[in-house]
Amino acid sequence: MALGTAMDWRGRLDAGDLSAEFLVRQALERIQVRDGLLNAVLATDTPRSLDLAREADRRLRNGERTPVLGLPVVLKDNLAWAGVPATSGSRALKGYSAPYDATVVSRLLTAGAIPVAKANMDEFAMGSSGEYSAFGPTLNPWDRTRVPGGSSSGPIVAVAAGYAPLALGSDTGGSVRLPASFCNVTALRPTYGVLSRYGLTAMASSLDQVGPVGASAADVAAALQVMAGRDPMDSTSLDLPRTGDLFPLRPAELKGKRIGLPAEYWDPGLDPAVRTVLDASLDQLTALGAELVEVSLPHTRYAIDTYYLVCTSEVSSNLSRFDGVRYGFRAPGEGLDLAEMISGTRDRGLGEEAKRRILLGTFCLSRGWYEAFYLKALRARTLIARDFEAAFQRVDLLATPVSPTTAFPLEAKTSDPLSMYLADVFTVTTSLAALPCLSMPAGFAEGLPVGLQLIGPALEDVALLEAAHAFQQATSHHLSTPPLPS
Ligand code: GLN
Repeated sequence: MALGTAMDWRGRLDAGDLSAEFLVRQALERIQVRDGLLNAVLATDTPRSLDLAREADRRLRNGERTPVLGLPVVLKDNLAWAGVPATSGSRALKGYSAPYDATVVSRLLTAGAIPVAKANMDEFAMGSSGEYSAFGPTLNPWDRTRVPGGSSSGPIVAVAAGYAPLALGSDTGGSVRLPASFCNVTALRPTYGVLSRYGLTAMASSLDQVGPVGASAADVAAALQVMAGRDPMDSTSLDLPRTGDLFPLRPAELKGKRIGLPAEYWDPGLDPAVRTVLDASLDQLTALGAELVEVSLPHTRYAIDTYYLVCTSEVSSNLSRFDGVRYGFRAPGEGLDLAEMISGTRDRGLGEEAKRRILLGTFCLSRGWYEAFYLKALRARTLIARDFEAAFQRVDLLATPVSPTTAFPLEAKTSDPLSMYLADVFTVTTSLAALPCLSMPAGFAEGLPVGLQLIGPALEDVALLEAAHAFQQATSHHLSTPPLPS
């Protein structure tokens, strides 16, 4: 059976053509058959998922309808699902189970979606390739010699490989968009605050957002509708205007819409094969009536430095809680004093990249360097955000590449952290500016998926999804699926 979009399954569930239990069993079977090849899943709870499926079937039979009722969903392992392991891809949390549901998870459960798996990820969401998990790398279903992109490697691969039609990842600097681009799925990073982070393991709190993932923009919109909105448990959360327009999603009228192409992103560094695919997607937007306008975001060149200063500073503070006292792993050893126990726990519990960021961030925040690095980065962040404000005076949306290349080979960047950081060159800016953005399938270069990024003004998440929906109604790239054993 074809993998299908969440909205295809939605129609068939509502019509009574199939049951939630069928979909959940299918999801668990696909995980069993395919995940030995891909390593996208870290944990399942079959009895619980099946109970939830039967409950969803009862609700469907009673005539209840919600955008996600009866649909399987995969959760990144940094999101809390009560009673189920939540490792964030780290040895430091091996054996730890979430004591409560994240708000996004409880809202999905209330609406009748069914979690079927916790998914692999770069440790504590630090990484761009999916190779920094303590539980082994996730592989790209389009070419298993390549990375799927990170850090939401597992949730993205779960959708790309047809385990479930929906997933939740998180996006701090591109973590749902980069893998979506490498694996041919659609993923949204909402405006900062639109989705509650209560129950999301914090990495860099001024940047972290939960990111819904689906086979199409309409799928993503359906999930967003049931999760969006202020949460008293997250003081940064806010209400999203026009949430009611997310389901069923209508395509935007692109005629007369001005789409800006930032010159700094469409630069000669772009892989020519990627460029050809993206040019064709821009032609498609023009054919739909959009007007393409060149714009400039002049502070883009400071984005990687700024992001990695802000991010590592916040990481050094957020990860200090993994000290062996309160959570998960504690270094064994008789007669250790407190300081020895804590340093032993960190030494053995955390991977290389986490340690690197804690050290870098601690240095950035240290006396004497705080002004030179951290405060300067905050100022650059403001300038980057102002570039976008100025651009949105002239255009409705922006279109950019998600990545300069397609999925790169495994281990191509693991020994060179800087080249790994540079994979985020087109995604960190919008995180710094707190803007909504998405990655959607634009076509294939040498058999590998290419994503197009759309960026909107703050709180225009719905308009962004409507524009992606218009593109997807006119194209079929998003419906291509990788060859996998059934
Ligand atoms: N690749 C970026 C980083 O390593 C972004 C990760 C993310 O968005 N969680 O920080």
